[in-house]
Amino acid sequence: MPTPAHHVAIVGGGISGLSSALAIQEASRQSGVPVACTVIESEQSFGGKIRTNQINGLVVEAGPDSFLTSKPWAFDLCDKLGLTDQVIHTNPSNNQTFCFAKGQMRELPQGLTGFVPTRLSALFSGGLISPLGMLRMGGEWFIPRHTDLEQDESLAAFFRRRLGAEAFNYFIEPLVAGIYAGDADELSLRATFPRFHELEQEYGSLIKGMRAQQRRRTVSTPTSSPQRSMFATLRGGLGDLVQALVKELESGQARLLTGHRVIEVSKVQDQASGYRLLFDNQEHILVDDVVLATPAYVTAKLLQSHQPSAAGLLADIPYSSTATVSLAFDNHDVERMIKGFGFVVPRIEGKALIAATWTSLKWPNRSKPGQTLIRCYVGGKGREQILEEDDHTIGTYIQGQLQEMIGVAGAPLFAEIQRWDRAMPQYVCGHGKRIKEIRTLMSQVKGIHLTGAAFDGLGIPDCIREGTRVGKEIVQSYG
Ligand SMILES: Cc1cc2nc3c(=O)[nH]c(=O)nc-3n(C[C@H](O)[C@H](O)[C@H](O)COP(=O)(O)OP(=O)(O)OC[C@H]3O[C@@H](n4cnc5c(N)ncnc54)[C@H](O)[C@@H]3O)c2cc1C
Repeated sequence: MPTPAHHVAIVGGGISGLSSALAIQEASRQSGVPVACTVIESEQSFGGKIRTNQINGLVVEAGPDSFLTSKPWAFDLCDKLGLTDQVIHTNPSNNQTFCFAKGQMRELPQGLTGFVPTRLSALFSGGLISPLGMLRMGGEWFIPRHTDLEQDESLAAFFRRRLGAEAFNYFIEPLVAGIYAGDADELSLRATFPRFHELEQEYGSLIKGMRAQQRRRTVSTPTSSPQRSMFATLRGGLGDLVQALVKELESGQARLLTGHRVIEVSKVQDQASGYRLLFDNQEHILVDDVVLATPAYVTAKLLQSHQPSAAGLLADIPYSSTATVSLAFDNHDVERMIKGFGFVVPRIEGKALIAATWTSLKWPNRSKPGQTLIRCYVGGKGREQILEEDDHTIGTYIQGQLQEMIGVAGAPLFAEIQRWDRAMPQYVCGHGKRIKEIRTLMSQVKGIHLTGAAFDGLGIPDCIREGTRVGKEIVQSYG
């Protein structure tokens, strides 16, 4: 193997950074251009928000628990890493999702978690929406399309305008909060769910657009094609994806550093190109290119001396904080529990609990026989006050909510709280324009590349797609 003529440092060993590193390794191999790659992670292990803990026969996801299957990039990565036979789908026998509203648990129309209801009867039987509210939803067909394309409409404004306030409050808001831990009045429709903006523009109505899409799907999907659930994960948890990535990078001779925080990125003075990365232990490395795959507020600091305007725009991206609370119960204590994948709690209910997943019912082999694992999600934009409480208080609050909402009795056999401080970038109105401006400004900075959840999608598949794109482009630039 020839000595690499190029050296790339990747700061941040979350899924975005690891995907960039893999893409560099692959592109280098394919193009025959030798490139050395160093991944630097400040924590003691890789994965960032992806963190799976296997404890006493439980598979506890402290961060994300699955990835969307409609976006191919996570699947493709699993395939590349030889994990295809480890991919598992949601358990089809428990696939109801509920909404705790007006004092009781009510079933959501199936498919609504993908924002496309497939079983509308639940809409009418659930009692979640009043007859007037349903009439207003049906009126969506006749609402004219928005013509002010300059305006970056908020998610709340869009769905209130199209479906009415009730449908927004009980269907849309809780699902948005579950995904973005955000406030739908602030989040940009186009930056979060651009497809809805496109549907409105293309068909003049969401109902018309979805019906057309469904017809197209029915025609194009052969009945024998294997059914994929909307979400998938790995048998041993998403941490296995991180482990497989790390193994692949190690076998490709990448240098992987954990417990090293990058505190400064400076230009090498006596060379036309190249950067010096200083770590918190005062060691440093010299590289040709740097990928910053860190949260936007970290990237902003590291970028400040190179492109202050872009750094300012990055620093202003808001983040929300959350916590996941995983609890395992003896099956006797959940006998009376309503069964399903999970439930959401609309903001107007005034609870700190955003959502909960019946992990053991949603996925196979998440707990030992005789036990049921439930994962709750608290905090998020505007509901962060609970995070100021200690773990015991949060655990007691959750236990009380589960008792009230789904009839779980008894104390948990296991409880774990994972706090996520400033973890979820908020794609607020103006996000698309902000990212465009950052990209334009960064095109003047040779050798520093940006990726990560703050840019073009915070879900795992989008992070993989973007991280991979950045890695490939760097190697192409050496060709
Ligand atoms: C609770 C929760 C649940 C979620 N659920 C889902 C889900 O079910 N499905 C889904 O698709 N997505 C989900 N997401 C979103 C998704 O997990 C994240 O957006 C994604 O993992 C972010 O990856 P990333 O690599 O961009 O950033 P991170 O994972 O944040 O990685 C950045 C890395 O940079 C490191 N770092 C920071 N500063 C420095 C420094 N100075 N030097 C070196 N390293 C540094 C950090 O330690 C971290 O490891 C969830 C997120 C959270 C928090």
